[in-house]
Amino acid sequence: MSYSYEAPVSQSLFDRASRVTPGGVNSPVRAFRAVGGTPRFMVSGTGPYLTDADGREYVDLVCSWGPMILGHSHPEVLAAVQEAVARGTSFGTPGEGEVALAEEIVARVAPVEQVRLVSSGTEATMSAIRLARGFTGRAKVVKFAGCYHGHVDALLAAAGSGVATFGLPDTPGVTGAQAGDTIVLPYNDLEAVQEAFHRHPGEIACVITEASPGNMGVVPPRPGFNQGVKDACAKNGALFVSDEVMTGFRTSKAGWYGVDGVVPDLMTFGKVMGGGFPAAAFGGRADVMAHLAPAGPVYQAGTLSGNPIATAAGLAQLRLLDDAAYAKVDAVSREIQGLVTDALAKEGVAHRLQTASNMFSVFFTDREVFDYEDAKRQESFRFTAFFHAMLAEGVYLPPSAFESWFVSTAHDERAVERVAAALPAAARAAAEATPEAAA
Ligand SMILES: *Cc1c(COP(=O)(O)O)cnc(C)c1O
Repeated sequence: MSYSYEAPVSQSLFDRASRVTPGGVNSPVRAFRAVGGTPRFMVSGTGPYLTDADGREYVDLVCSWGPMILGHSHPEVLAAVQEAVARGTSFGTPGEGEVALAEEIVARVAPVEQVRLVSSGTEATMSAIRLARGFTGRAKVVKFAGCYHGHVDALLAAAGSGVATFGLPDTPGVTGAQAGDTIVLPYNDLEAVQEAFHRHPGEIACVITEASPGNMGVVPPRPGFNQGVKDACAKNGALFVSDEVMTGFRTSKAGWYGVDGVVPDLMTFGKVMGGGFPAAAFGGRADVMAHLAPAGPVYQAGTLSGNPIATAAGLAQLRLLDDAAYAKVDAVSREIQGLVTDALAKEGVAHRLQTASNMFSVFFTDREVFDYEDAKRQESFRFTAFFHAMLAEGVYLPPSAFESWFVSTAHDERAVERVAAALPAAARAAAEATPEAAA
């Protein structure tokens, strides 16, 4: 496939990067492998816009994969960061900022009685699983196909997005011993969960699930699914771990918990809570968290955990995220959702728009998507054509058909109009796409 627009500076940066970094990127989905072409190297972001190294501006519908829910360079977040930086960057001691951020999380999300700060979502889920195993004295972990929980060895089985995009069912480097205690089930299948407990009595430490999956595209839980998983866990002495790294403080003030009200034993957070810095967390029941070092025997640590700059950014962002902010993000999300379906319908392109509050994505299929197998049945070659047509018109979408799209409070009328203007040609490109052209 050839593209009618060029990005010479990004191309030369990508050439340089490819010499010193595997695949030229520091996280695989950034590399455009699923859609082809040259990844754009961004130099700045303001509000709903990103500017690349060639000086082109894009409406950003990725928002750093979710964190930038107030848009880029929000003045109050930047001010909090600058104020924190001026006091020094890391102390290796406790500090008030991390207490305040923990208090904010505990205040927002009722099931979280205690929380431990870490630096990435991967660390959060890895630590939550270790804690669940330490607390229960059991080895097995249940996860769902298409759910991504970071690149934790034990959880890199049928792990959605990056892994889905590259078709690596099980990555080399993860041993049988590391993945052998992982049970992978189809998403949204409560019977499979009950059967797993039946087949492994007294062996399952926890079930981990994305609260509402966004890493195989947006595939919300069927009504009653999360509650059913929670009940099955409670009945069988296992912990219910809800991964809210993506949905936390994004889908509502209290994340997906604020939407469905199902009470997990442990929860994980990242993305939005860091305000664009590396900050993440896991927390939950106080009696479970009490097993964590130094209060208890389960070890977990981090040199930069609760970093003062990251906590200042996260706290500033969370404090700005009031009901009005979520109402705004939800409204602009609905507006863009409507524009996308209208444009695709007009060109007769079979598609399903799926939503989880303000998270949404488009599947190029006419059937509702309930699990990873359904998601993989879409005509992703149409997404490739759609993606490049949008990019050419200055709209930056996630470079994979298996990702959620994200908007922010900064997406104003002008940004929405630019999306609207780009859509007709992109919908036409999707209609005209063939599997061969995308290859
Ligand atoms: C992004 C994500 C992670 C991993 O977080 P990192 O900060 O990239 O390590 C874990 N779980 C979910 C649901 C995510 O979306």
